[in-house]
Amino acid sequence: MIDIPAGIQQVQTRIKQAANEAERAASAITLVAVSKTKPVEAIVAAYDAGQRHFGENRAEELEQKAEALKHLPGIQWHFIGHLQTRQSKAIADYAHYFHAVDRLKIAERLSHQLAERERTLPVYVEVNISGEVSKGGFNCANWEQDSDQRDEFLNAVKSMMALPQLSMSGLMTMAPFNAPEDEIRSIFRRLRELSEWLNRQLSELDAHELSMGMTGDFEIAVEEGASCVRVGTAIFGER
Ligand SMILES: *Cc1c(COP(=O)(O)O)cnc(C)c1O
Repeated sequence: MIDIPAGIQQVQTRIKQAANEAERAASAITLVAVSKTKPVEAIVAAYDAGQRHFGENRAEELEQKAEALKHLPGIQWHFIGHLQTRQSKAIADYAHYFHAVDRLKIAERLSHQLAERERTLPVYVEVNISGEVSKGGFNCANWEQDSDQRDEFLNAVKSMMALPQLSMSGLMTMAPFNAPEDEIRSIFRRLRELSEWLNRQLSELDAHELSMGMTGDFEIAVEEGASCVRVGTAIFGER
């Protein structure tokens, strides 16, 4: 059996060290423990060790776990996966944060469903910086050079800002797996720069959060400005 409290402790220590390196406050970084595929007992073990933020990437699984654990005060559910249109209700019902807004249509649908529930949902817009076809999100692989790409993204964000039930937290990305460190670092840095550019363009926007970094690369993400890291394997073991 894997020692979940020890895993959380180790990840928190590594976040602190990376934050110190970068002269950032570790308290500005939220650890989302990615519990996808893991049983509710594993989540309870993490909760008992003080962990409150959990990440899931399947709507049905989120619904089942959130229902099973609704007696735990202060538990926060982050939906971090691609959301299929027909499954958006579960997110409107159970998610406290949504990290993967990858198209305007899902944002509109969610806003509508949230209105029926009189809820507001903090969201991150998912951005594809690496250009890998396997990755989701708005294509911003060439945003520094390509003004059409920038404008398209800007217009999508503007439309989302107009949706009353969504509150824009910031941007989310995933770096390539097993890429050299400098390549991963550059992806995270370019997400931060895109966020700075976006917030300058839209004066009404205040969306400075950056959701980036997983088990293999969260320290680099912290050094490059992550406000939220999504870590599964280093806490709960291999899936
Ligand atoms: C699974 C997943 C993670 C966590 O991955 P680990 O490598 O296990 O830390 C983070 N973000 C997203 C979007 C995921 O799907």
